[in-house]
Amino acid sequence: MRVSLREISEIQTTVAFEIPAERFPVLREISRRGEAAFPGTVQSRLSIQRVSGLIEVEGRVSCTARLSCARCLAEFDYPIEAAIRLAYARRPPEAAFPAEPARVDPEEADLLAFSGDELDLAEGVQEQIVLALPIRALCREDCRGLCPRCGADWNRGPCDCPRETEAGPFAAPGKRKAPGR
Ligand SMILES: [Zn+2]
Ligand SMILES: [Zn+2]
Repeated sequence: MRVSLREISEIQTTVAFEIPAERFPVLREISRRGEAAFPGTVQSRLSIQRVSGLIEVEGRVSCTARLSCARCLAEFDYPIEAAIRLAYARRPPEAAFPAEPARVDPEEADLLAFSGDELDLAEGVQEQIVLALPIRALCREDCRGLCPRCGADWNRGPCDCPRETEAGPFAAPGKRKAPGR
């Protein structure tokens, strides 16, 4: 996701990318750990502009994450659609630590450092995808989950296991509250 600095001016230019998700190191690592898979491409449409010494990038990024439901374990596709807003500043020549890009102003837009004559947008884009992943993946909001006894998928209908009351499995059936007097 490299853009030559020659193409970036004070006049906003729009660039569009469609890149296989596996080309993003962080997404590949998440897949390797089995937390989510990214079967398709990452699409992004970004406006780039020079604004008072910085390069501002704004737009949208989307892809599909394949997750497994925390309740019923079924795999499902989760569409990710995230807004992106980044600002890049040229790294001062004396700063020779290319390991981590400097983040100066976390309040407004993330300020990332670049050097050379190209801007690589991949890191900022993959970060937005990771932030857009749900903390608790559910195939749907009202997923009923699996029966803890027989493992049946309650989304497909009830199983034959005895129904447990609200009080739990050890509450004696029919036991009534003593009359409070
Ligand atoms: Zn589910
Ligand atoms: Zn059951």
